[in-house]
Parts: sequence; C-alpha cells; structure tokens
Amino acid sequence: MTERTTFFDTPLTQLRSLGPQRTELLNKELNLFTFGDLIQYYPFRYDDRSRYYTISELMDSMSSAQVRGRLREWFVEGEGPKKRLVGTFTDGTGTMSLVWFQGITYIEKTLRRDGEYIAYGKPQSFNGQFSIIHPELENTATGPAHEPGFYPVYNLTEKLRRRHLDSKAIAKAMRQLLEQAWPHIHETLPAELIEKYRLISKRDAIWNIHLPQHQGWLKQAQRRLKFEELFYNQLRLIKNKLMQKEEFPGQIFRDTTLMKHFYNELLPFELTGAQQRVIRELYADFLTGKQMNRLLQGDVGSGKTIVAFIACLMAIGNGAQACLMAPTEILADQHYNGLKPFADAMGLTIGILTGSTNKKRRVVLHEELQSGKMHVLVGTHALLEDAVQYKNLGLCIIDEQHRFGVAQRAKLWGKNETVPPHILVMTATPIPRTLAMTLYGNLDVSTIDELPKGRKPIKTVHKFDKHRSEVFGFMRQQLELGRQVYVVYPLIEESEKLDYKDLMDGYESMQRAFPRPQYEIGILHGKMLPYEKDDEMKRFLKRETQILVATTVIEVGVNVPNASVMVIESAERFGLSQLHQLRGRVGRGAEQSYCIMMTGYKLSSDTRTRLETMVRTNNGFEIADVDLQLRGPGDLTGTQQSGVMDLMIADLAKDGPILTAARESAQAILQEDPELILPQHAPVRNQVDNVRKHGNNWGRIS
Ligand code: ADP
Ligand code: MG
Repeated sequence: MTERTTFFDTPLTQLRSLGPQRTELLNKELNLFTFGDLIQYYPFRYDDRSRYYTISELMDSMSSAQVRGRLREWFVEGEGPKKRLVGTFTDGTGTMSLVWFQGITYIEKTLRRDGEYIAYGKPQSFNGQFSIIHPELENTATGPAHEPGFYPVYNLTEKLRRRHLDSKAIAKAMRQLLEQAWPHIHETLPAELIEKYRLISKRDAIWNIHLPQHQGWLKQAQRRLKFEELFYNQLRLIKNKLMQKEEFPGQIFRDTTLMKHFYNELLPFELTGAQQRVIRELYADFLTGKQMNRLLQGDVGSGKTIVAFIACLMAIGNGAQACLMAPTEILADQHYNGLKPFADAMGLTIGILTGSTNKKRRVVLHEELQSGKMHVLVGTHALLEDAVQYKNLGLCIIDEQHRFGVAQRAKLWGKNETVPPHILVMTATPIPRTLAMTLYGNLDVSTIDELPKGRKPIKTVHKFDKHRSEVFGFMRQQLELGRQVYVVYPLIEESEKLDYKDLMDGYESMQRAFPRPQYEIGILHGKMLPYEKDDEMKRFLKRETQILVATTVIEVGVNVPNASVMVIESAERFGLSQLHQLRGRVGRGAEQSYCIMMTGYKLSSDTRTRLETMVRTNNGFEIADVDLQLRGPGDLTGTQQSGVMDLMIADLAKDGPILTAARESAQAILQEDPELILPQHAPVRNQVDNVRKHGNNWGRIS
C-alpha cells in the first residue's frame, strides 16, 4: 500500500516528457501536481477521427464527425451579426451545409469546387437537414491528411496552449504516464459487482478514458468510472447515515390517541393516499428510538402543513412539544391562523413568535414554553433565539427548507439538551430522485406525489408581449368575477436598476389600464422594509387591493386562495422551477386558476423548452426533471452543495440508471458487511481507507 501511495504521489517533474517548466505551468494553471492528479484529469470530450461518416449516418448525438465529400456551391446569406457563408456539401448519400460566421472573406477565397474535402465538426440538424458550423475543412489534395484515431480533448487554458501544452502534448505525456502506472493500478471494485454489471477492469478503464482504442472502449470506460464514482459516493453517504442513526437517540412517540382524535373528529377532509403514507413513515421513525432527520418534499398545494400538524400531535400526545418554523412572517402567520382553530378545538395551546412579537408577549411565551403549558410554537427565525427554551422539545418542523442553512438546523437541535428533537424539513421545490439520492443521501426522504382530490389544474399559456391588450382584457374579466391577480416581474438582483425600472414602469402602466377608484393596485419588492412588505401582503389578503405587482419576493408559500391569475412578465428570464413556484401561488382555492407567461419574440431553444414544459404539465417532479436536464445538477443546487460538485465524471442528469445500480450495490454490501471485513470486500475497504487517509485526491485511483 505504501508503495502505491508513493507512486501516485510522485511529482509530475518525474515524467520525462514534461520536465520542470511545463510541470510548473500545470501546477499553476490546472492545479495538477502529482502523477495521481494528472491521471485523473479526464478529457472533457474526444475528437472522433477514427472513421469517416456518410452524411446519411449523421446524428445529433454525435459530438463530432468527419465526412468526406465535395462542395457543390456556396453563397453569403443574412446581414449584420447574422451574416454567414453557407456551403452545400455532398457525398452521394445526401447533402449538408457548412456554415461560417467569421472570416467569411478569407474562407470564401480558399474554397474550390473541384477536389475532395474532409469536413470535421459537430453535426446539428434542423428540419432534417444537417449542418456543421465552423467546420475544420481540409482539401485532401493539398492539406495534410489527419492521422486516423480517436483523440482526447482536455480542458486547457490559453496560456498552456501558447506554451505548446495542447491536448496532443497532454495525450503524449499521458501515454507515458499510463505505461509507467500500469502495474500500480489496482482494482477498486469487488469482483461480484464487476461481474454483475459487466464492468471493465480499472486498468482498462483508466487507459481507455484517456486513449480510447475506439468508441466502444470509451463507452465502457466511462460506464465503469461513473459506476465507481457513484458507488463510492453512495457508500459514503449511506455509511454516514448509519453512523448518524447510531449516534443520536430520539424520543419515542408511541401513543396515537391524540392524533386519532383529531383524525376522526376534526380533520375536515380525507387525507390523500400520499399524505397517509408519509404519516406512516413518520410514525415508523418515531418508534425507532433514534433521532429522525427527514425531508418531506411535496409540490405546492399538496398538503404538507396538515401532515406537519399531525406529526406535531404525535409528539404532543406523548408529552413532548413541537415547533414549526417558516421563512417569513407572512407564512408564520398563515400557519398559525390555519392551525389555531384545530388546537383550540383540542384544548391545546399554540403560540406564535416572530420579529414583531412584543416584549411583554415574549415573556409570557418563554414562560409557557418552559413550563410545558405551550404545546406548539409557530414562528420565524425568532425561534432560534437563545431565550427560547422548552420544557421538552420533541419535534422541529422547518418549512420551505431552502431558506435555512445547516447552522440554523443545528441550533434547533440544541433546544433539547437531553435528547435532540426529531427534525422534519419540508420543501415545495421537488428535487429529482437522482439528486435527492446524492444530496440528501444522509437524510430520509418522504414524498407527497399526489394532490388533494378535486383540484383543478392551473391553465397555463404563453403569450407574446404584443398580445398584452388581450391579456389585460382577460384580467379585467377575472377581476369582475371578484378574483385577484398577481403580476410578477423578474428582479434577479434586487439592486439591478434596470429591473427596478421595469417593475415601476409596469406598475404605472398597470395603473393606467386599471384605474382607481375601480381598482386598487399594490406593489411588493425587495427594497421595501419587512413591515412594509407585510402590510402590502395583508392588504392583498384582505382584498383591499385586487392586483399585486411584485417581484419574486412572493415566491415562497403565500396562500391567497382568492387570487386566481398569475401573470409572469419577461418569463424568459425565469428558471423553470421558479416559474413553477410562482404558478403555485394561484390554484389554491376552488376557482379555475390561470398562469400567463409573457415574453418577447426572441427565445432561445432552452427557453422554449421551459415555456412548453410549463404549458404541458403541472407536475413539479416532471418539471424538476426537465430542469435538471436543462441546467445540470450544479446550477440546480448551488455550488455550496458539495457531494454533487465533487463528481468528476458522472452526470446526474444523465446517469440515473447507473446511480440507482450503484446505490443498490452500496446498500447491499453495507447491509451484508457493515464494517467491510469480508475478504471479497477488501477492494472496497482499501479504497475507503485510502480516501480517509489521503483525501480524495489520488486516493480514488489506487
Ligand atoms: P403545501 O404543501 O403547499 O404547503 P398546504 O399544506 O398549504 O400545501 O395545503 C394547501 C391547501 O390544501 C390547504 O388549504 C389545505 O387545507 C388543503 N388540503 C390539504 N390536504 C388536503 C386534502 N387531503 N384534501 C383536501 N384539501 C387538502
Ligand atoms: Mg406550505
């Protein structure tokens, strides 16, 4: 083992084809210092020069292809930035276009009608017609023929390329390194998995990820390395989770009398099947004697609050207290007002604590919490204050989780010094399953994937700005029916002056179209003080205003059942999950609700996909999946979420099936052999030890 350690720790200067100067560049530019670093610097794509494709064989999925053929004609099209040179290229199986936007004059001079060309680049189709934009074009008569092969392309900086450290040079160094490293590369997966999933060996995978013999080997190498990466990712998460469960005891809530009383006597509707299932999952957790750490995800309006309340009743019915924390005062009020009648009917004491709770009231609250007289406390961040101490806090529920950090969660833990409270985190931003598995592998996840019966799906349409008068007409019609309307403007950065101006312009044009005294219009944005925002929101709730012009500050959780229309201005500037969240502000009452997305005419294809997805479905999980495909996992979760960002080769948007297999394998192995002591698991144990001792750096490889 030490022998292996030293080999992959060898500084890059030791590699003959690099030497000290180039090594220094690699240190500085790419943070590569050792053999291990370099060998794990995988290509980000490959140039397929291994064969020629015919035009009839081209596919959009090809990252690149070379085609042999002749130029039939070419001409300049378009004007300004759209000006381009288009050539018609043919090989007898079909035709495609070669397109240049830059260097038109020069290229046009070099083109010839006679002679054979090799065109190389990324094929793209539009209406069944393929084209390559800015192809590499060689005349076979005059140009040097490209050596046939499959070439790695590494992510390199301009500086490296200037010093002749291009992909070709790296590939050469890599070959040398791989030859030396060969005897030091050991298998890191147990034989049973390699056999079960027909994976290639670690050695073959490492070789072929850099210097693939052909496409087939490359695919196998990628699959093997992705599996390995996800397997160890899951192994770590599951191991952490098992340890966590062992470390922290939790209160047992066995008695269900109080909950059943509520369920049978007071609950005003039937729970959905999904709600019932989640309640059973929570109850099972409360019987284990271990602390619960559970994420509850459910689409907007799926009925998370009542599930949370029933969980509170389980705690209270067993002599513990519960708290429910919301990200804003409006939301805390909403929860409190919704739950108070139930609490009253059962003779329970419920309280509310927010930034605006006055001192006198606080003193009483603190006392009631400490004496145990108060059963449930609802509130905002104020719940985290040190002065808030309970007699026996048994359950903490955090609503709309993405606004809270880990540190705050830890603070809640400390509110019971004897046994940490159970934690239930609720979110209305569904996360695709693959992401949930990696991000929250150490949390248990419950899902409400069903809406209460009788909900009318929100009708969603996309309108161009030009049709504004039609939209205004529709708004008027809804307002006459007594409904209320949200109009939302993007304000990505609350300080962006232009956005602010758009919002104010919109507000004014709204005032012209919906004049007083017939209509009252409110406005809500991030520059307002908290109490101003609250006042404005309350005016809308009380129907003192009919239209609320706002930025995305209304995104989270607000419940105004009478609001039935959501107009989203400049919808092209919102992300998909944000659009869905905004839409979730309507459709909360019995009336048919509408979401109207307004945009200009210029839309990228991603934007079109976003808008079409919104129009097609109301299902948050489906939307989250599309969002993941469009944006990739990093963007979706923010860079602070490590675990996803650590992945070097696996792609959560595409590798769902591999992830599932890797997770099941990790689970099975840990179940059979939690300490990894069986001889057949030696490769796993070695790998885990290596990573623990040396960090992730080169440990993954040896
Ligand atoms: P969210 O999951 O977005 O927090 P809420 O808990 O606010 O959703 O529930 C939305 C509305 O649906 C509330 O008015 C709630 O009373 C109602 N509701 C919840 N569950 C059901 C159900 N099973 N049947 C009918 N209405 C329900
Ligand atoms: Mg909610």
